[in-house]
Amino acid sequence: MTDAPILEVRDLAVTFRGEGGALTVVNDVSFTVRRGETLALVGESGSGKSVTSLAILRLLPPAPRCTVSGSVRFIGRDGRARSLLDLDAGAMQAVRGDEISMIFQEPMTSLNPVHRIGDQIAEAVTFHRGVGRKAALARAEELLELVGIPEPRRRLAAYPHHLSGGMRQRVMIAMALACDPSLLIADEPTTALDVTVQAGIIDLLKALQAKTGMAIIFVTHNLGVVAEIADSVMVMYAGRIVERGDAVGLLQHPRIPYTQGLLSAVPRIDRLDFGGGALPTIPGNVPDPGRLPPGCSFHPRCAHARPGACDATVPALEEAGAGRVVRCHLWREIEAVGA
Ligand code: SF4
Repeated sequence: MTDAPILEVRDLAVTFRGEGGALTVVNDVSFTVRRGETLALVGESGSGKSVTSLAILRLLPPAPRCTVSGSVRFIGRDGRARSLLDLDAGAMQAVRGDEISMIFQEPMTSLNPVHRIGDQIAEAVTFHRGVGRKAALARAEELLELVGIPEPRRRLAAYPHHLSGGMRQRVMIAMALACDPSLLIADEPTTALDVTVQAGIIDLLKALQAKTGMAIIFVTHNLGVVAEIADSVMVMYAGRIVERGDAVGLLQHPRIPYTQGLLSAVPRIDRLDFGGGALPTIPGNVPDPGRLPPGCSFHPRCAHARPGACDATVPALEEAGAGRVVRCHLWREIEAVGA
């Protein structure tokens, strides 16, 4: 990782409009990703992490159904900064899939079932690099080899249904890497896979990052995976950032009740209680964005909530030292009593 930023997101907000009115599902989100860094975007389903990624890539429905405000500044290979929210559709399409790529959660719905995988990878190469079919297929073969698919030349002719789930996810990674992106956004790329395949995909992403220096935004609800891959972590709840910091520090010493709850719900072999104890969970569910509780959105689920404070005002994001930022009225007190 270097200190050079590649992506600067400031005050990002996303609002959907429908018959029931306007719903703001992402609010006040600011963060920076540096070259070679892996930032894990963590939270339960409905926390706004996938919508944040889709907003960066401008893959949300157009206005007026959905409006995105704030700024997303991307510094490309040529060192030039571009404001992604202001690019016209053609310029954005040139960035997407070339300098910034995305891997989606479920490869079977992202790959076209009626086209050979070689053609699907080659299409991205032809579109962004303007090379002929023969050169694009040669690049597709090279990419299949890079992502560890055996007999890559033969696999060029395979259809998605010929491959296992892990192989299909590798094909998706190959497609995303087709043009050597500087930033890869991976949205739950291992969720649908079994743990051994998941470990293989994570090792692959780490090896590719070491080779190419690309930055990765890794979207996940799985904190076990975060420990494996991330340099830094951003925790989201109800559309807002609630804690952010370096991965080792945050995972070892989470400072707010929500992150503490998420981490204590991760099964750990050294904490297994064979006397019948249950794994701790966070009570309740992520609130509906149309019915957010007043004050701190987490207060109905928080064991530390204080009436009159937590249910009255939304906590601000505060510096908590050592690069950590937190959103909680009571983080100092909670820390002082070692809760
Ligand atoms: Fe819990 Fe209050 Fe902190 Fe929210 S602000 S996390 S309710 S203690």
